[in-house]
Amino acid sequence: MQVDETPEQYGEFLAERRAEILDRIREACRRAGRDEGEVCLLAVSKTVGPEEVALAWEAGYRAFGENRPQELKRKVEAAKARPEMAHARFDMIGNLQTNKINMVLGNAELVHSVSSAHLAQAISKRAEAKGVRVRYLVETNVSGEESKSGFSPDEVRREVGSLLELPNMELLGLMTMAPANDPDEARRSFSGLRELRDELAAETGRALPVLSCGMSDDFQIAIEEGSTIVRLGRTVFSPDYQLR
Ligand SMILES: *Cc1c(COP(=O)(O)O)cnc(C)c1O
Repeated sequence: MQVDETPEQYGEFLAERRAEILDRIREACRRAGRDEGEVCLLAVSKTVGPEEVALAWEAGYRAFGENRPQELKRKVEAAKARPEMAHARFDMIGNLQTNKINMVLGNAELVHSVSSAHLAQAISKRAEAKGVRVRYLVETNVSGEESKSGFSPDEVRREVGSLLELPNMELLGLMTMAPANDPDEARRSFSGLRELRDELAAETGRALPVLSCGMSDDFQIAIEEGSTIVRLGRTVFSPDYQLR
């Protein structure tokens, strides 16, 4: 919310923007011959507070993404204090250190950002001790950019067998971050992610149905290339962001 904005005004912005985003999602699905029900819209709430999340809930959003364990826990607790938000979904989408795993267990519906076999093993151990199951995605560095974390495609090919055997862990698919400001490169990353998933699914006999890719600048391309979860931050929450 801007300093001079009332919650009502911001709520109106959120609802109008959401309708525009849903239009774009529908159009991208139509271009790709996909059913729009296949695409989950995750509102990335990392730059806003619990009050804005509650307004986004009122505007119709049901699933939220956070990139810090502490903040995820805080947002989940704030949502639980509101009876109408009892079924709000929160996903963990950011870098996770092993000493923060406990904040995420039981709070995140899906962990998108399992970026190494070591981290997957550590989560599995904590999940076993706590008696919970963890649904997760393997974060894959498809573009090969050095600045990006995650498994390389070859590492995923090598590790997927042992990942599937980890106790209390349910591998649902893959996640990637595309290079910024380059639509062609972004498209190549998304299609590469889908092709890698198809290859792993054929090899392991698991469907691995979830592809988490596409952010504010490139979600329409991601949907054309098969994304099932788009992670949108600025375009959902920032009136200054120009939706194209
Ligand atoms: C911040 C963030 C997003 C959302 O990015 P926008 O460009 O604001 O839509 C998506 N995924 C991850 C992992 C993020 O950290």
